[in-house]
Amino acid sequence: MINTIKILRHQGKQFIPDLRKVKAPGIFRGRPDIGPEVCDEKALAEICPTGAIMISPVRIDLGKCAFCGECSRIFPEKIKFTTDYRLATNIRERLIVTEGRIEPLTLGMDVIRKEIRKFFRGSLKLRQVSAGGDNSCELELNACGNVNFDMGRFGIEFVASPRHADGIVITGPVSKNMASALQITYDATPTPKIIILAGTDAISGGIFEGSPALDRSFIDKNHIDLYIPGNPVHPLTFINGVLDLIGIK
Ligand code: SF4
Repeated sequence: MINTIKILRHQGKQFIPDLRKVKAPGIFRGRPDIGPEVCDEKALAEICPTGAIMISPVRIDLGKCAFCGECSRIFPEKIKFTTDYRLATNIRERLIVTEGRIEPLTLGMDVIRKEIRKFFRGSLKLRQVSAGGDNSCELELNACGNVNFDMGRFGIEFVASPRHADGIVITGPVSKNMASALQITYDATPTPKIIILAGTDAISGGIFEGSPALDRSFIDKNHIDLYIPGNPVHPLTFINGVLDLIGIK
């Protein structure tokens, strides 16, 4: 008994008490801060492996950014990555961070479908579809349910069948081989089905953008309820994004 108490004291709290306010470690790359310093913008854009950097003014599309850090390594005065993990939004254009903009990313309240907050505020079951993913985002989504992040405390869980789910979470760039499986999963999910894109690959195709091995017609033709950037997505980014969507403070 005494040994058990000693172990419990030694381990301390295993869970993060407040997922909305916890600080991410300094090495985490979250929302970029693009300063006013003058630099060779063309050279800056050229070093980006995913074409996420646009110029005049300098902008970074977080839906394309692989968070590799090359831009901030070569142009440290111009681009710094903050540890702000709240990157999710439901408006695609808001993923583009512009020079001088320091406000956090937010959701457009009037774009959230009314049924989402009405039905899912207390319980949200999600089916994850890895559509050509590399298992990195999938691993992080798995971590959302561990004792550390404990997403289940909000009633948010991943389930085994789309028939038991309220929506789908897509990871990966959507390969041709997974296109019909994705459609079948979506069709099997009861209305009003939520669609969440988790990670750079799902949002834009990432480094595979434009590849003939992809079939992104599902993404193009359906309404996306939430875009969650990251490469891979951090559990704090995912959980905070979903909480914002369903209206939990
Ligand atoms: S961190 Fe993002 S924007 Fe910067 S070079 Fe890498 S992919 Fe491009």
